[in-house]
Amino acid sequence: MITLTGKKISEGIAIGRLAFFKRGAREVRRIYVEDVRKELARFQKACEKAAAELQDLYTAMTKEIGEVNASMFEMQQMVLNDTEFLDGITGIIKEQRLNADYAVKEATNRFIEKYASRDASYVRGHEADVRDVESRILRVLARIRKEKMLIDEPVIMAARELYPSEAAQLESSKVLGIVTMFGTINSHTATIARTKEIPSVIGTGEALKKEYEGKMVIIDGFEGRIYIEPDQTTLSRMQEKKRTALRKTETLERLKGKENVTQSGQKIDVCANIGAKDEIESVLRNDSNGIGLFRSEFIYMESGTRFPTEEQQFQIYKLAAESMGAKRVVIRTADIGGEKSVDCLEITGENNPAMGYRGIRVSLDKEEMFKIQLRAILRASAFGSIAIMFPMISSMEEVLAAKSILEKVKQDLRNEKTLFDESVKTGVMIETPAAVMISGELAREVDFFSIGTNDLTQFTLGMDRTNRRTAGNFNSKHPALIKMIRIVTNNVHLEGKRISICGDLAADLSMTEQFINMGIDELSVAPSQILPLRKHIRELK
Ligand code: PEP
Ligand code: MG
Repeated sequence: MITLTGKKISEGIAIGRLAFFKRGAREVRRIYVEDVRKELARFQKACEKAAAELQDLYTAMTKEIGEVNASMFEMQQMVLNDTEFLDGITGIIKEQRLNADYAVKEATNRFIEKYASRDASYVRGHEADVRDVESRILRVLARIRKEKMLIDEPVIMAARELYPSEAAQLESSKVLGIVTMFGTINSHTATIARTKEIPSVIGTGEALKKEYEGKMVIIDGFEGRIYIEPDQTTLSRMQEKKRTALRKTETLERLKGKENVTQSGQKIDVCANIGAKDEIESVLRNDSNGIGLFRSEFIYMESGTRFPTEEQQFQIYKLAAESMGAKRVVIRTADIGGEKSVDCLEITGENNPAMGYRGIRVSLDKEEMFKIQLRAILRASAFGSIAIMFPMISSMEEVLAAKSILEKVKQDLRNEKTLFDESVKTGVMIETPAAVMISGELAREVDFFSIGTNDLTQFTLGMDRTNRRTAGNFNSKHPALIKMIRIVTNNVHLEGKRISICGDLAADLSMTEQFINMGIDELSVAPSQILPLRKHIRELK
């Protein structure tokens, strides 16, 4: 038996024979062209065909994996429309008089090399999407029809790397598991594997060898392990693990549609924290009571050197609102700064970024940027139940200033006769000790609160949340924190307002009972933590 290790991207156990994915890689030759104009036209036509194919794929995938997940192919459309990507290719054709195929390959390499390492580029972590586009254009240029995967028997799919469009077309009934040599955890391929619930492990490196083709393998998606030709003991252990996992899933599945109520009748909402539209699908799948925290700064992080436009943001917020229907979606305005740097707004010269120019301070300073975001959120509020939350609040003045800008934006929309929810609720994050101390006053100004225990711990203990050396002492359950949560809850409830916890502590099952007894109205956790938390709540006495 050989054991390989990698990164787990989709949980579960898969047992079957290994088959390598055949992409039909083509050799790309470097050829001089006589007629540059003709070559440019050939490339242009290939791009149009590739765009049409992507559109078809999007339509087909919307049916199979849902609109939210299918929208990841919009990113590939973005690559196909990226002027820098296209100029790189046409530049090589024009200036070096080389064939389109070679130009596509060369320019894609350069494009990835330039952007893959940039923190806030949309390419970072999504190199596979760019390669997917490259492979599509090359196939169209070579006039090869779409490859259809022909698998008779269900197999465990192995590949060097699997592109999102390839993963999207895998049939869950035919692909028991996925193992790849390379790839990233946050990639779209990983999202698809999770959506299709295919146990998957990536990043085994060269240890995954071609000679394993046809061999019996086990993928342990819980641990990120692959067993090639497992011995009898491992096989029995994994079969048992598979059965246990199945029983657990069935138990959690049964909780869907049920109330989050303890045995003595105390209720609490369980909502989801997300940072991207890709995650909405999993919010729905886990039957969340709403989205308690949409970290909108991730949209800015993914937008590269340009700010996300009002329209781009509107589409994302609208999708969230429509997908959740009557359930509430709390959009936190951009918490840029601190450990969340973005390329579209470079913040330099900070000695202490976590305590510096970040969150609401940036929004109030960059009023135009803030207004664009508020316009997008308000417009989306006409399509569901949206609430707006301000991050990193440390004074009443900040709240009043943010509300006053919000009022101006509302007035602009009214003047333009653009629809929005007039009763949209506003809330603030409690992430600083100052906000805790003035929570009573704040509760007279806003409708709801959410305690960000990650930052609140950082500022209360005076301990950097990103410092590995102090990680062992970074204790969100410190008595000081518990007292603070209690103070805020009482202050907020005295004014008849709602209080939620959305920091990591919300998912700590050892705290749930205490939170319920304090009267916390809502816990907001990662989508995958919803059902286990709900199970725990229902078991409490
Ligand atoms: C927090 O600080 O607890 C929080 C939820 O916000 P973030 O983790 O995005 O800073
Ligand atoms: Mg925070």
